[in-house]
This record gives sequence, C-alpha cells and structure tokens, in this order.
Amino acid sequence: MGRMVASVVTSARVVVVGGGIVAASVAYHLALRGVEVVVVDDDHAGAATAAGAGIICPWRAHADDARYRLSAAGARYYPQLVALLAADGETETGYATVGALCVAPDASALQPLADRLRARRENTPEIGDITDLQPGEPTRLFPPLAPNLAAVLVSGGGRVDGRAITASMLRAAVRHGAVTIRGTATLDQAGQQVRGVLVGADRVRADVVVVAAGAWTAQVCAGFGAELPIGPQRGQIVHACMAGTDTSSWPAVLPAGDPYLLAFPGGRVVFGATREHAGFDYRTTIGGIGGLLPAALAVAPGLGAATMLETRVGFRPVTQDGWPLLGWLTDGLVVAAGNGAEGLTAGPVTGRAAAALALGEKPAGYLAAFDPMRFQAAARF
Ligand SMILES: Cc1cc2nc3c(=O)[nH]c(=O)nc-3n(C[C@H](O)[C@H](O)[C@H](O)COP(=O)(O)OP(=O)(O)OC[C@H]3O[C@@H](n4cnc5c(N)ncnc54)[C@H](O)[C@@H]3O)c2cc1C
Repeated sequence: MGRMVASVVTSARVVVVGGGIVAASVAYHLALRGVEVVVVDDDHAGAATAAGAGIICPWRAHADDARYRLSAAGARYYPQLVALLAADGETETGYATVGALCVAPDASALQPLADRLRARRENTPEIGDITDLQPGEPTRLFPPLAPNLAAVLVSGGGRVDGRAITASMLRAAVRHGAVTIRGTATLDQAGQQVRGVLVGADRVRADVVVVAAGAWTAQVCAGFGAELPIGPQRGQIVHACMAGTDTSSWPAVLPAGDPYLLAFPGGRVVFGATREHAGFDYRTTIGGIGGLLPAALAVAPGLGAATMLETRVGFRPVTQDGWPLLGWLTDGLVVAAGNGAEGLTAGPVTGRAAAALALGEKPAGYLAAFDPMRFQAAARF
C-alpha cells in the first residue's frame, strides 16, 4: 500500500483529534496526569462548543438512564473542574451557579417536575433548593420575563461559557506539557490498527488516538467497519445585549420547550436554539432566527429593547439512538462524541472518561451503554 511520505514525524502517547470541549477535557486530564499528548484541531466553522448556550441543568429529564447519569455526573463535576483550573491559574471559564427557572404559565403544570426534582435531590444534593414561585415572582430574578409566568427555581442550576472553559482547559493542558497542532487529522492505520494521525504531510505517531471530533467524528473514523451513525444537528442561537443591566447572576430560564434563555455578565442575554437536520450547512437563516425572535419575546417581552449582538450557528453531534459514543472502536482508537444538546454539561466528564480509557483504565460501569461498537451490526445512519 502506498503511503504518504511524512515530512515531520513526532510521537506522543495519545493524540486527540478535535478542539471542542470534549477534546480539551481529554487533553487536560491526560496532561494533568503527566501523559504526553498532542491535540490536533482544524477549527471547523460550526464547532458546537463555540455556539453552545451553556445551560447546566440536566435534572429535569424523565428517565434515570445512562444518558441522564452522564449529564448529572457532568453537572456534579463542574465545581471540581473549575477548582482544578483555578489551581492552574485559569479563572475565566464563564462558569457560575446562577440557578435555573423552569417556567410555565400554569403553576400546576410544573408540579410533576417539582416532585421529580425533589425526589432526585436525595441522591443528588447539587440540585440545591427547589422553590415554587407564583406567577409574577420570577421577574424578580429575570426582569424581562412575562409577568404571567410561574416557575420552579432550581438553585443548583448553572451556566458556562463553552468557548472560555475550552480555551482554559487547552491552555492549562499546554502548561502541563500538551502540544497543539492546527490542521485536519486523518487516521494513520495499518489494517485494523490505528498508529497515530497524519496532518497534511506530517505524521504523529501515538499508542492511542482519541477522536473527539463532534459531528465530524464519522468522517474521521471512516474505514473502520460500518460508518458511525453520528452527524450534525444544526442549532442557531441569538446573543442580545441589555446595556447597563447587571445580568451576571440572572438564572437560566427553561420553558417546557424552546426557546430557553440565559445570561452572562455585561448585559449579555442568549436565547435559542433551533434544532435542524440541515447537514453541515453553516448558515444563519431567516426562518431559523425569524422563528426564535417572537418565541423569545413571548417568554421575555422585556427583551424587546435589547440590542442584537450576534447570531451563532453550531452542529450538535447527535447519534442515531441519541446516546453518545464513548469507548474503543478498534486497536489504538477511542471515540468520544455524540453528546448532542447536553454536551457542554457532559463534555468535561466525557473527556475525563475518554482519557481514562486511553490509559487502559475501566471507567464507571454505566458508560458501557455508550460503546461505539453497538452500531456495528446496525443499518447506516
Ligand atoms: C446552539 C447550541 C446550543 C447548545 N446549548 C447547550 C447548552 O445549553 N448546554 C449544554 O450542555 N450543551 C449545549 N449544546 C451542546 C454542546 O454545545 C455540544 O454537545 C458540545 O459542545 C459538543 O462538543 P464536542 O467537543 O463533542 O464537539 P465540537 O465542539 O463540535 O468540536 C469538534 C471539533 O472537532 C474538530 N474536528 C473535526 N474534524 C477534525 C479533523 N479531521 N481534524 C482535526 N479536527 C477536527 C472541529 O474543528 C471541532 O473543533 C448546544 C449546542 C448548540 C449548537
């Protein structure tokens, strides 16, 4: 078989493909443990981490399945991760426990949710206090809200700036010895064995490659059995500014369906998002944003005078069955992708688990449900 002649050959124990929150977490946790790691990212337009809203409030889910447990573990891990990063001099993560308002016009409609949250609190104290708010009360916490809305306030809800925490983890990884390369990686394989990656004409040899390439993961892993059933779900999202307003501690606002809203310091209010099957079509559309604006104003009429700052577009990595891919795909190849709409919540623990796998460790039992080999006999996506 004819091979490209590599102009530069480097090596590392682990190569991570990707530059989103999962890849950054893999790299950080490996580097923290003194493992030689190289990160290859091509900075695709539409990386989900750069567009994600940043809500961390996974406890509303109905099921107590492995998917829920991963997101819940993700939420639990955040304070610890932020402390680790702070010890590494990284304090700009955008993470804060600001609470979450689950809103509805009818307070009685919120009762089953409030009951579920209270039941979960026993084993999940990080959910915090659950407080029922009567119509009108939520506006004390998030002033632009419609006055007819009642809410259940979840004090443990949080938010994070996906761009900021990912950059923090990557910088800290580099400080611990990780190397980053800008470029598109393809797998360097010999039969069913992965031996590293090729980046242009350069070769990086590694004992293990971790592919954390989000919605692009199937392309990177093409060539190993059936195509992995993972692809993009487009999300368009709006950033607005309420100039002169202290929004830094406003809670996230979560209606039963979209749009959700959340706030960051500096008057920034974010709402979204669309969920579209549009392939890798990196565009803001009239229909997408045009649908979000009136829906957001119905929940929060007080946003009417806010300034439009920007729109963002990202491709959520979604799998055929809605569950992530986390595990070994073949010799030398670990896959960590597919966290869908909760990937900023679950990304750091997913990356930590992938780092453990790459070192030959056995992660927590429930992660077996995410074995990427589960699709090998199934139809293509
Ligand atoms: C609009 C929107 C709102 C969201 N809101 C939330 C939220 O509120 N809460 C929440 O928990 N989650 C949210 N999410 C989901 C979350 O953002 C994603 O699940 C998560 O960011 C996925 O991270 P990732 O690292 O797997 O993938 P990405 O962030 O997509 O990163 C993949 C990376 O792989 C790189 N790459 C791909 N192919 C190659 C290659 N061959 N070589 C080198 N590099 C390559 C790309 O350049 C990219 O950097 C939202 C997503 C969107 C789009």
